Amino acid sequence: MKKEVRKVVIAGNWKMNMTPSEAAKAVKETAELTAGKNGCDVVLCVPFVDIAVAAEAAKGTNVKIGAQNVHFEAKGAYTGECSASMLLEAGAEYVIIGHSERRQYFGETDETVNKRTKAALAAGLKVILCLGEVLEERQAGITAEIVSMQTKLDLAGISAEDLKNVIIAYEPVWAIGTGLTATPDQAEEVCAIIRNVVCGLYGCEAAEALTIQYGGSMNDGNAAELLSKVNVDGGLIGGASLVPAKFAKIVDAAQA
Ligand code: PEP
Repeated sequence: MKKEVRKVVIAGNWKMNMTPSEAAKAVKETAELTAGKNGCDVVLCVPFVDIAVAAEAAKGTNVKIGAQNVHFEAKGAYTGECSASMLLEAGAEYVIIGHSERRQYFGETDETVNKRTKAALAAGLKVILCLGEVLEERQAGITAEIVSMQTKLDLAGISAEDLKNVIIAYEPVWAIGTGLTATPDQAEEVCAIIRNVVCGLYGCEAAEALTIQYGGSMNDGNAAELLSKVNVDGGLIGGASLVPAKFAKIVDAAQA
């Protein structure tokens, strides 16, 4: 199976930006600018409080809405958290899990990433599972070991059927929000390593069908080259997703 038959997904991660009214406006603008661009799926992952208005603004368009985190329990005394069923009912179709900012600032581990992923999939959400090495790991030459280990731990116990609703986002931590981008060859190399690990876990047919995104300072200037790589099936985009015109240009780059 070749890249052409995998689903290309361009997803924005708004992080902690956009009030509900700003979100409605940005979703509408993004939808207008990306209308008819059917060469990829377009997703905007928004703060919890924006999900319902964003989903309403996205109705009837090609933009799908996602959340940025989910708790693994169905309900209960977990102040500040949201369950998968809450996200679904609010209008989310996707959820980002394991973003490096959550691993770095909020104590997220491969174990909790795995638990959140299982809960999200069981509820019917599609998961954008983030993993990637920090700068010291790249400099020590252990990127392959790190991403292989994360892939195995984060997917532990997830069935081949559920894997169909998982996207892996390879996000080298040193490239997120820093303006530093992995070169297209670096992105390709690591996405191929991840695919190879998934091949070992689920078989190569499942691995060939898996969408693997690159994330880390992707923008309208570098997207085309990154997306031209055979194992890079889309992007997870932070900063540039906040500006609909820039994000739409990345969607354009994914049409090729
Ligand atoms: C991200 O938030 O996942 C990300 C890749 O951010 P940025 O594009 O700003 O580096």
